Amino acid sequence: MCDCLVALGPATAGGATLFAKNSDRPPAEVQVLEWFPPRREPVTQATHLVIDGHRCANRTTIPGFDAQPRHPRQPVDRLVDPRLAATDRVLAAGPLTCDAVTAHLRSHAGGDGGCSVCMHAAGVQVTAASMVAELPVDGPSRVWTVQGSPCERGYERSW
Ligand SMILES: [Zn+2]
Repeated sequence: MCDCLVALGPATAGGATLFAKNSDRPPAEVQVLEWFPPRREPVTQATHLVIDGHRCANRTTIPGFDAQPRHPRQPVDRLVDPRLAATDRVLAAGPLTCDAVTAHLRSHAGGDGGCSVCMHAAGVQVTAASMVAELPVDGPSRVWTVQGSPCERGYERSW
């Protein structure tokens, strides 16, 4: 359960697309960051699905896909939906800035048992890395990352 947020240019203060992601993984798992040059492809193979065209989404926002891989005992209403509602509130408060996005990724808004945007589900998953990418139409992209929980460390410019 990793929180993702995308705000397209019209919804951001600077007009650039903002892509933000927390990586919620087992506490001791290493998070390797690599840079790949931009590319266009007619079909994208993601971990659990194939996406036609250049769209991006996740299992929470694709209703048809949401039901397929869901664990039958996963209490989505308590663990996932509160985090999605927190993301919806951030997007609705726009125009979005990088500071607002990093504040959201650091927040403990969300569900039970540490299943918050910045996750601390003891013995299960933590937010092991976090990233915000600013993607302008023209000019270079800028990326800020955190290795570890974003509530405990500052974001550093990575690219
Ligand atoms: Zn935290």
